[in-house]
Amino acid sequence: MTTHAKPVEAFDLVIFGGTGDLAMRKLLPALFRRFVDGQITDDSRIIGVAREDQTYANYRERVAEALDKAIHDKECLDKSRDAFLALVGYRPLDATKDDGWNDLETLLGGNDERVRMFYLSTSPKIFVDICQRLRQHNLNGGNSRVVIEKPIGHDLASAKSINDAVGDVFDESQIFRIDHYLGKETVQNLLALRFANALFEPLWNAAHIDHVQITVGETVGVEQRGPYYDNAGALRDMVQNHLLQLLCMVAMEPPASLESDAVRDEKLKVLHTLKPINADNASQMTVRGQYRAGAANGGSAPSYQEDLGGKESTTETFVALKAEVCNWRWAGVPFYLRTGKRLPQRVSEIIIHFRDIPYSIFSAGSGTINANKLVLRLQPDEGVKLWLMAKYPGPGGLRLQSVPLDMSFAEAFGVQQPDAYERLLLDVVRGNLTLFMRRDEVEAAWRWIDPILAAWESGNDTPKSYSAGTWGPSASVALIERDGRTWHDGDE
Ligand code: NAP
Repeated sequence: MTTHAKPVEAFDLVIFGGTGDLAMRKLLPALFRRFVDGQITDDSRIIGVAREDQTYANYRERVAEALDKAIHDKECLDKSRDAFLALVGYRPLDATKDDGWNDLETLLGGNDERVRMFYLSTSPKIFVDICQRLRQHNLNGGNSRVVIEKPIGHDLASAKSINDAVGDVFDESQIFRIDHYLGKETVQNLLALRFANALFEPLWNAAHIDHVQITVGETVGVEQRGPYYDNAGALRDMVQNHLLQLLCMVAMEPPASLESDAVRDEKLKVLHTLKPINADNASQMTVRGQYRAGAANGGSAPSYQEDLGGKESTTETFVALKAEVCNWRWAGVPFYLRTGKRLPQRVSEIIIHFRDIPYSIFSAGSGTINANKLVLRLQPDEGVKLWLMAKYPGPGGLRLQSVPLDMSFAEAFGVQQPDAYERLLLDVVRGNLTLFMRRDEVEAAWRWIDPILAAWESGNDTPKSYSAGTWGPSASVALIERDGRTWHDGDE
């Protein structure tokens, strides 16, 4: 599992919300893995902050339990757990009140050269309080960084007010807006695939690509996130951030370098070229759905409204939409995006569908010639598949069959794929903003999403229902089939 990665400089990381789900399930295990790999040195500190009053020892016990759940290599865990826990501390503090901040300042103070990171793993409602108090206590100096998690707003206006509040205290170069999809190996590999191979870029345009599909399917329902989710819905929760970021990575022009602003400028241009979807065209370009009870995950699953405890709701748990990038490269190439809960598979995939061959020299008996497809799989098993036509082996005439050139990253490189947070957390230490969203990107994404939400609100229709365990409402199939295309479902 060694990655030969270099250690990063020593840092102090304060996790506001250090007892929460994200910290325990994702952030601390990610830090542990980087520690085991030698990238985090013994003189770094990780300080959990939350309101609950507890001692260092209690907190370390909870972190140890979280590691037990998340880390499957028990030998490695037994070997390194105590050394890692020695870096971990805790401060009880209510971020909305003044008490406790002097203590945090004393703990962190003294060395302004040291990298100091504040991870706001709390509700965005208290981001303003946290940032203002960090300033009052002079903790926002040049080597400080702040990390903020989605949701960055509920719409453009609320995103702007979060950005204003954080931007009032920290410079844009200190603000790391996480979209963990950008930390996934396949997304970074998309950069490698497109810009480190001469093969793809000449084909990466409307002349050779028929359409692009991006699917992010979850098999689970809303779980414990019901109240948050019901206020958000799939469009805000998934499309505004993850799916649009993936679309940008596929559609952007080659950046001049991997410098953060070079990449982010190109992604921003894509967001600016998206054809607006509003009340005039939302009914043709979008489908929203909500799951009803059905057979799923080998058993039966309740409806969304049952998952909410019987509350009536018109929130969408599924969205399919057709986006169009209006520029020379992509003119006439639809980007079909689809995401939902209680779908048949937990899968995140980008599928590039190339055009059909212009003319076939094969007889009808050779079989159907399928267009080439490049499938970039972000989860569950990250990898790339290029579907090609090949001759079926043996005598019996020339029979053609579609077969994949299949590269699983885990197998090809013989290393376990790191979790996205491992990469992203260390990028924060390094001050590398390339895989984080800039303020103007977040706002441009909301500027495109808001009219869709407004169109849905002004229309009279409610989300179409779909059975749990299926690929969404039939209208989603119609959305793509109207254009003579089909969704790529399953491992084909
Ligand atoms: P959570 O489980 O509800 O945890 C919230 C944390 O904030 C707890 O540690 C809580 O501890 C602390 N907290 C609440 N009010 C506080 C205050 N006034 N002062 C100091 N600490 C306070 O939430 P979560 O699931 O970890 O999510 C955290 C953030 O990340 C949210 O914005 C969420 O949308 C986002 N996010 C989460 C996930 C995920 O997988 N969980 C994924 C993507 C984004 P006390 O109550 O003891 O104070």
